[in-house]
Amino acid sequence: MKLIFPKTRYILYLVIISVFGWFLFNYLISSQSEIMYKYFIEKPTTYNLERAERLAFSIYQSFKKEVLDPSHDNIRAFVTKYNDIPFLSVNFVYNDGSGGMKSILDNAGEIDILRAEYVYPIRYGEKEAGTLLVYDINKEYKRGLEEYAGTLLITRIFFGAMLLLLVSILIYREYTVKIEQKKREAEYEAVHDGLTGLYTHKYFLEHLDREIARSQRYKRPLSLLMCDVDHFKKFNDTYGHLAGDKALKTVAAIISENIRASDIVARYGGEEFAILLVETSLEQAESVAKRLKSVMDDAAEVADRIKGKIEHTPISVDHKTVGVTISMGLSSYYGQPDYKPEYLIGEADHALYESKNNGRNMVTIFDPETKKFKSYGHSE
Ligand code: GH3
Ligand code: MG
Ligand code: MG
Repeated sequence: MKLIFPKTRYILYLVIISVFGWFLFNYLISSQSEIMYKYFIEKPTTYNLERAERLAFSIYQSFKKEVLDPSHDNIRAFVTKYNDIPFLSVNFVYNDGSGGMKSILDNAGEIDILRAEYVYPIRYGEKEAGTLLVYDINKEYKRGLEEYAGTLLITRIFFGAMLLLLVSILIYREYTVKIEQKKREAEYEAVHDGLTGLYTHKYFLEHLDREIARSQRYKRPLSLLMCDVDHFKKFNDTYGHLAGDKALKTVAAIISENIRASDIVARYGGEEFAILLVETSLEQAESVAKRLKSVMDDAAEVADRIKGKIEHTPISVDHKTVGVTISMGLSSYYGQPDYKPEYLIGEADHALYESKNNGRNMVTIFDPETKKFKSYGHSE
């Protein structure tokens, strides 16, 4: 059973239930027709044809004796009386003068002489009165049962088709649900990094494009923080790649916890992370320079917090406690025209390089107005 995938097992259950349902349904239908046959066919036929014929003939003889005057009322009274006999039904048809046949009984429905088992023409001297018809109801039942068997067959086919349709719909639904799920997973995986769960490099660049355009339109500053884990190659060499992965996950989690919902963070490269901080709370009335300063201060504060948290978060590796530090480069954009996302990345990268150069575990801020770098933090 382990080899069967959940979907296959689901289909198996459906098929088993349907087959069971189909047999149960057929059992019910068959037993119903058996009952019909037993009570309407087998039982009545214990009385045989000879007896029916004798009975029919005696009705005919009675007609001659009882209906002395063949008025319609008399004939109708006779026919009505003899219709009470079990298993036989009686009718009388006569020529209505226009060449057609008419039944003496108003409720006789369609006159079907061919279906009558016994037919007796009635004459009074030279005068033709009509025809006495005697039907064997037992045979009528048999015919009815044949028709009933036909409807049973249609019912069986209909039920089977409905069952098949239902099973197909359920299987199709299951299938489409699985496909939808796979699609959603694929969509998620396309923009998320497998190890850290952060956005991918590609998604980050797309997002940056959009944010730069927005920033240009609304003159709303934004900041980019580039982060790189210090001496990570050495960390891997010392503690192994699994410990390295664990460290990367820890760093990613700390960054995610320390930014706002409107900011986005991506795994930019192996041990590099990019954080895009979007300013939303600044007032429109402030001057651009003032706004930029405020945004850079905010971003520097976020950078400080993240750097500090990473530095002081212990990572346990093989029952030992180790840690990592990161270097950061910060640059901001305040809506200058003819700007390209590459400029922002280039400046932040440059600032990061400065942090590395000045001893790592540092934050370097690039001021886009003065074009100057300013590093601060703990050097090794
Ligand atoms: P620096 O302080 O100058 O940044 O030095 P560094 O050693 O961190 O930089 P370098 O670029 O020389 O090395 C980066 C290392 O990061 C090398 C690579 O093996 C490691 N790395 C990249 N991606 C992963 C990953 O997914 N898992 C692990 N465990 N290591 C990774
Ligand atoms: Mg690197
Ligand atoms: Mg590094």
